[in-house]
Amino acid sequence: EFEQLGWALRVLENTDSTNAEALRLLSSGAPPPFVVLAETQTSGRGRRGREWVSPPAQNLYYTLALTITGGPQRLSGLSLVVGLAVMHALRQLGVERAGVKWPNDIYVDGKKIAGILLELTGDPADVCHVVIGVGINVNMIADAVEIGQAWTSMRVESGNLVDRNELARVLSRSLQHYLNRHTDEGFSGLRAEWESNNIWRGQRCCLSAGSQHIKGLVLGVDEQGALRLMVDGQESRFSGGELSLRLD
Ligand code: ATP
Repeated sequence: EFEQLGWALRVLENTDSTNAEALRLLSSGAPPPFVVLAETQTSGRGRRGREWVSPPAQNLYYTLALTITGGPQRLSGLSLVVGLAVMHALRQLGVERAGVKWPNDIYVDGKKIAGILLELTGDPADVCHVVIGVGINVNMIADAVEIGQAWTSMRVESGNLVDRNELARVLSRSLQHYLNRHTDEGFSGLRAEWESNNIWRGQRCCLSAGSQHIKGLVLGVDEQGALRLMVDGQESRFSGGELSLRLD
């Protein structure tokens, strides 16, 4: 399957994080595209250095490394498109109510089921590499782990044990489909689809950037994937990897 996609595959028992491993492979000259999968991560990461809880053998810890050419506009909306790809893979495997939260988490009924972390190396204005990390809660069940916010897993949602190899295949096909569309159409071609799956459209939310908090109504996203928020009767737009959105 991975051969069909033209993606090399590396499966590890244990690593610090699949993104960190992919970045090391890139810097030692491994040619993208390739995928790194691990059974467990000893320091799984979210954004802003936060922890991604990664118990062994239950979940999916997946990183796709790619080359991006054509300038910074090719990165516009990329993390949102990855969110759509993950959402679709989950729906295909029975998690029908999966939706996207800006900028790139996947939720089911207010609970986080998957997280995404994009990291770049090289020069975005020229040729750069991106590693796309995807953590999906697959067969993890409650009381096994302590996570600081509401979460769920594919098993909790579907009632069945999920085959992680099958998930890796379905996810890879979905990523290839959406990344190709992103290359062809840009984010603007996928914006309507993102919007119709935006779990917090029309809701009052609080956007945090470090110690700063901004309250507003979620209007949606613009053509570049920036968040559109109605703040004190005026529309504002926000983008950047350090921002975090919560229900108010
Ligand atoms: P937020 O979810 O608060 O908006 P964020 O989108 O920046 O923050 P990430 O950095 O993507 O979140 O993920 C890290 C956070 O996700 C952790 O702080 C923790 O609350 C939560 N988390 C960690 N591991 C898991 C997991 N396996 N499943 C669901 N949520 C998790």
